[in-house]
Amino acid sequence: MDRLQKCPANYVALSPVAFLERAAGVYADRTSVVYQRTRFTWKQTYERCRRLASSLRMLNISKNDVVSVLAPNVPAMIEMHFAVPMAGAVLNTINTRLDSKNVATILKHSESKVFFVDYQYVPLAVDALKLLMADPDTPHMPLVVVIDDVDAPTGTRLGELEYEQLVASGNPTQELPQLEDEWDPIALNYTSGTTSAPKGVVYSHRGAYLSTISLLLQWGVGSEPVYLWSLPMFHCNGWTFTWGVAARGGVNVCIRNTSAVEMYQAIADHRVTHMCCAPIVFTILLEAGLSERRPIASPVQVLTGGAPPPAPLLEKIERMGFKVTHAYGLTEATGPALVCEWRSEWDQRPSEERARLKARQGISVLTLADVDVKNAKTMASVPRDGRSVGEIVLRGSSIMKGYFKNTKDTAEALRDGWFFTGDVAVVHPDGYLEIKDRSKDVIISGGENISSVEVETVLYKHPMVVEAAVVAMPHPRWGETPCAFVTLKKKCGGGDNTATEEDIITYCRANMSRFMVPKKVVFVEELPKTSTGKIQKFQLREVAKRLKVAERPPHGSSKTHLPNHGTRQVEPQQEQVLAMSRL
Ligand code: ADP
Repeated sequence: MDRLQKCPANYVALSPVAFLERAAGVYADRTSVVYQRTRFTWKQTYERCRRLASSLRMLNISKNDVVSVLAPNVPAMIEMHFAVPMAGAVLNTINTRLDSKNVATILKHSESKVFFVDYQYVPLAVDALKLLMADPDTPHMPLVVVIDDVDAPTGTRLGELEYEQLVASGNPTQELPQLEDEWDPIALNYTSGTTSAPKGVVYSHRGAYLSTISLLLQWGVGSEPVYLWSLPMFHCNGWTFTWGVAARGGVNVCIRNTSAVEMYQAIADHRVTHMCCAPIVFTILLEAGLSERRPIASPVQVLTGGAPPPAPLLEKIERMGFKVTHAYGLTEATGPALVCEWRSEWDQRPSEERARLKARQGISVLTLADVDVKNAKTMASVPRDGRSVGEIVLRGSSIMKGYFKNTKDTAEALRDGWFFTGDVAVVHPDGYLEIKDRSKDVIISGGENISSVEVETVLYKHPMVVEAAVVAMPHPRWGETPCAFVTLKKKCGGGDNTATEEDIITYCRANMSRFMVPKKVVFVEELPKTSTGKIQKFQLREVAKRLKVAERPPHGSSKTHLPNHGTRQVEPQQEQVLAMSRL
């Protein structure tokens, strides 16, 4: 048996690009993509991707080059998930909610060669490119390609290159590089992580392939799903469904905005069967006015995660005709790593209990070799008692290759044979995990990660700020929002504070992405510290929990969609003083 050899007949490098090649053959005339009045079949999508890959080669893109894209959920995003790796390159999808500084940082760190920009995001891209150009350490400027609207072209341009022109001018029969090693990188996704520097998470072709299959199985996605793009494709490659829909010969229903109107309309018009989203999308759907709603004629399967879904929200959304599966994951694990797999014996439980069971994060997806909850110091597993807390650790083929150009953080995250998630959980006697806290300094607002360190770094630059600490404050709509605790310089000779909450918030708005701006600023005389001078954030979190937050906006607003640019609530100074006095 030892002499049996690997050969091209029995050993093929795993890559999710193969799903498209197969779809073009076996689902050739089935619809692949729907966007407004535009329709493509799988045969057409394959040909368009081959053309784009060939154009990228003509632009000198070769193995391991990074190709970035800043775009909402439009058809080009699906195509780039195949065309970029077909050209041998690595796809870097950029979060459209970031500000120009963050976008510039990503373009620079990734050494991006080509930057695709949806026409709506041209102003943001221009600002980012200006910053890049002004930075003497920028390795090179990327070539810019505008993605005009495929359905209703606007004529917007930024330089010479345009997406549809690249597709049209590519040669669909050009020979493209063959993947030899499945460990080669396919995607680079930046996550805010726990420090101010974003970290570039690298996926391999193998990891992406196995994660895609694993999620399709875990969620029970059968053939011909009609998949609504309510989850941004820039979030961990749309939790792998950018590739997965091709594997099942399904339809990608693309929408530009995650607004209630667009989602209800798409669900009704295309008879959507599946969608993924952060729990904030449930709030958007539930808050929609009557004129925005359309009946949910047949059940829609929803995979939700990215933030803890409150049990009452699960109960309400299920009553509307959505069948929710709860998942937990993170960018480093290619999206969902745990799924709260439903057990039929729970069907008979009262609805409140069913929602509570579903709000648990669950059990591992198939590609994970193992999941555990451990004491991070002793590495001892916690007992399955639903009470003892430890850190969630994961290992298996869906875990990232590592952080791009960052050996220190990679070594810290991948150690002792495990990936450390920074999430704190218990294990219930039935083996299901439930998250209780986070050990990492991240605030999760509407499914978006906000690094508290990043917000603090900006606050420290304010001329009147002496010290700042940012923690999560519970919010009825966004789950959490940042709350800043700040000490200020005194006016000469003592006296009043020298900046108001308005001033600080205005300053933050000018210096960070809008969704990161603290909704509340609490002025304190001194921040609580340990004897070694470390700020005791847990105390601040306790105070933040007690602070009142803005009520949600009125029902039925048709402009209710991500991202959060909601109104900020300026609380009376008095309440803040009271809250601090309880420390
Ligand atoms: P994503 O892009 O999928 O949101 P991130 O890497 O940005 O992934 O965020 C991952 C973090 O979000 C996790 O480490 C965890 O703290 C939190 N998270 C994700 N899913 C859940 C969930 N179902 N319940 C509670 N927290 C979650």
